[in-house]
Amino acid sequence: MDAECTGAGSVRCGMETDMDRYCKRCQKLLEGDEIALYRKLIWREATEYLCLECLSRDLSSTPERLRDLIHYYRTKQKCCLFV
Ligand SMILES: [Zn+2]
Repeated sequence: MDAECTGAGSVRCGMETDMDRYCKRCQKLLEGDEIALYRKLIWREATEYLCLECLSRDLSSTPERLRDLIHYYRTKQKCCLFV
């Protein structure tokens, strides 16, 4: 349904999207959705983030389930963190 996130979405909620962000653990380049989910689940004011793989490990979950969560927040809650 949705096109894959390119990280080039509009800026909302004062979220800076003009900088590349990397996972603080494995240094993977992060997608906007990964940053948004981290902010949603862990800490709204975070400036360092984890990728879905690392985050799912911390949460005893799986990257697939976190993808579902992202989809849920975007479609059901229309959370402004997810653009
Ligand atoms: Zn990582």
